Amino acid sequence: MEMRIGHGYDLHRLEISKENDAILMIGGFGVHCGLQAIAHSDGDALMHAVTDALLSAIGEPDIGTLFPDNDPKNENRDSGEFLIEAMDRVNVGGWAICNVDITVVCDQPKIGSLREQICENLRRYIVAPVNIKGKTHEGTDRCGAIEVHVVALLQRGNKHE
Ligand code: MG
Repeated sequence: MEMRIGHGYDLHRLEISKENDAILMIGGFGVHCGLQAIAHSDGDALMHAVTDALLSAIGEPDIGTLFPDNDPKNENRDSGEFLIEAMDRVNVGGWAICNVDITVVCDQPKIGSLREQICENLRRYIVAPVNIKGKTHEGTDRCGAIEVHVVALLQRGNKHE
């Protein structure tokens, strides 16, 4: 049995939205919290960090290499498509995900109340236990940002080994 661990990290600055219908994407779940991420794609830092953790575990190029932020094709793009590409590479390589552990750091919105919806959405892409913890920036100078840390454990090989 071969095992790999991958770490993913992402940060996006947040700004107060002038539009009433603005949403902040967190794990593919749109949150109406008056904030939006400053980004080229849809700014879903959680999706970006999960995608990078999986790609990193299996030794594939990172999200910025596969989906450059200066490529017009990626403008406002659904970050679920990045995760689908990572999952395709996971599957082609014969890997199975053991678990994914996620820490989201932001002051708003509160992650605790969104945990179930985010996990449910991630299950559309990942068939493995996913855990999400929410932390705050504790009044430091990173309050205007959302940060996400992810570790993912993968395995492949004969289950009877
Ligand atoms: Mg990003």
